[in-house]
Amino acid sequence: MKPQPIGILGGTFDPIHYGHLRLAEEMLELAGLQQIHFIPTGNPPHRDTPQVSAAHRSAMVKLAIADQPAFVLDEREVRRTTKSYTVDTLRELRTELGDAQPICLLMGGDAFLQLDTWHEWKQILDLAHVVVGFRPGFTLEKRIHSATEALRLQYQNRLCGVDYLSQHAFGGIAELAIPKLEISATLIRARVSDNRTIRYLLPATVANYIYQHHLYISC
Ligand code: ATP
Repeated sequence: MKPQPIGILGGTFDPIHYGHLRLAEEMLELAGLQQIHFIPTGNPPHRDTPQVSAAHRSAMVKLAIADQPAFVLDEREVRRTTKSYTVDTLRELRTELGDAQPICLLMGGDAFLQLDTWHEWKQILDLAHVVVGFRPGFTLEKRIHSATEALRLQYQNRLCGVDYLSQHAFGGIAELAIPKLEISATLIRARVSDNRTIRYLLPATVANYIYQHHLYISC
């Protein structure tokens, strides 16, 4: 029997918030994961430089997941001095965990619809499963028409159920209906900068860290 799948949740986490934590908690349960690695990006190739240092973003993730033993902080990307690509992270994890370990790359529906812009995206699908959270009623099936033909093809060929995730080590694309909290890191940064409350959008420990270190004051 294969070991229970391990989930990977990458993000800038600038800062981490309840949207990320609920996504992870739901996926842990629905996909039967044994653990989720939270991997803050170092120098993300896809977007503007994060507002605060990798050390701060990592410290906030550590605080946010402290009370959930199945969540672990994985700092491999923030330690890298070169650009951090998900495919490299997955290659490292595959070497460490072995060929039999199911690995699930977790992401929201919006991120999935742009997967084909990621570095070596097809290799990603041969290293891990991709597990996509969508809002109830907004299935990928309904939205996939807006993706490129290449991504649509992979989606059609690899679509699988949750059982497949534990029976195979990589290669499936699974969808999970997960209510999306209307929270984003952008919203939190803007609110801190405008001197507005961020209570209940993220763990209090993370909010306190933001204030103690005067983060996001002039975004
Ligand atoms: P920003 O507002 O700075 O773009 P973000 O809040 O979207 O940041 P990221 O760190 O870019 O956070 O997201 C990491 C992962 O978490 C992505 O796969 C994204 O789809 C998912 N995610 C972000 N916010 C939510 C949310 N509210 N609900 C569910 N998933 C989310």
